[in-house]
Amino acid sequence: MLEIRPTCENCNKKLPYNSSEAMICTFECTFCQDCVTLLQQVCPNCRGGFEKRPIRPKQLLKKYPVSNVVVHKPVNILNYKNSLKTKF
Ligand SMILES: [Zn+2]
Ligand SMILES: [Zn+2]
Repeated sequence: MLEIRPTCENCNKKLPYNSSEAMICTFECTFCQDCVTLLQQVCPNCRGGFEKRPIRPKQLLKKYPVSNVVVHKPVNILNYKNSLKTKF
């Protein structure tokens, strides 16, 4: 089951379960669309791609609540872009 994390890992922006901006990688690293663009669509943790996070139907939230664990690991975008250049 998806965790549906409450914030963007990079900028800590709130991403509620029904946000249309939330993007996740296959490991559920969660970022907002702005940060995904900054990261050139590549996850800084696993180097995988992102997909839009699906919205969990509201009637299921009580039985299957979303995560409230905040993961905040800001990415140093400049270093990150340099590392993309050397590794790809
Ligand atoms: Zn963000
Ligand atoms: Zn990832």
